[in-house]
Amino acid sequence: MDFFDFHHHKKNNLYGIYNIDFGTVPPDSPYSIGIHPKDIAVGSIEEQFGWLESNISENCLAIGECGLDSIVSIPQNIQEQIFQRQIMISNEVKKPLIIHCVRKFYEVISFKKKAEQAVIIHGFNKKQRIAEDLLKNNFYLSFGKAVLYHLSLQDIVRSTPLNRMFLETDNEYFNIEELYSKVSELKGISLEKLNEHILENLDTIKNG
Ligand SMILES: [Zn+2]
Repeated sequence: MDFFDFHHHKKNNLYGIYNIDFGTVPPDSPYSIGIHPKDIAVGSIEEQFGWLESNISENCLAIGECGLDSIVSIPQNIQEQIFQRQIMISNEVKKPLIIHCVRKFYEVISFKKKAEQAVIIHGFNKKQRIAEDLLKNNFYLSFGKAVLYHLSLQDIVRSTPLNRMFLETDNEYFNIEELYSKVSELKGISLEKLNEHILENLDTIKNG
């Protein structure tokens, strides 16, 4: 069985969504494209959007990762402008948004109101309370390697509905089957069933 890797940075991984590096040319396989907060170049924002908008082809499954990050040095108001513009692009091209968020969940929740497509928080690894608030606001959560060893995150996976989750390797190197196995155990369902749910979710977000 093949297991879909919702968000990763490995060009040779063809079954999943490859998040392309800023400024590069997209592959012929599924990818996402966006301006990560850490890549914002204040002096050349128009060029950055030029790159983004001219590289949205049929293989582009999502806009992102984009979002808000309280650790990077780019001023918050600029991050918010760049994020909002990417939300508008997602609305325009009708593709879901993959969100990178570091300690800015409540700001991201308020921006969600502007989004018309599905919005997925990638690499979710925070508290139950935040997960609940995100789910209440119709976000999807994508979980990564931390689920293998963080007990509190395992509890969050248990309580996240199957129709609102994805699984990913991000920039970690491990076999995603391990993660699918762990989650199927936490959810008390077979690997096949889990796989079906994830692929159904993928269809749902593709269709707005
Ligand atoms: Zn990533």
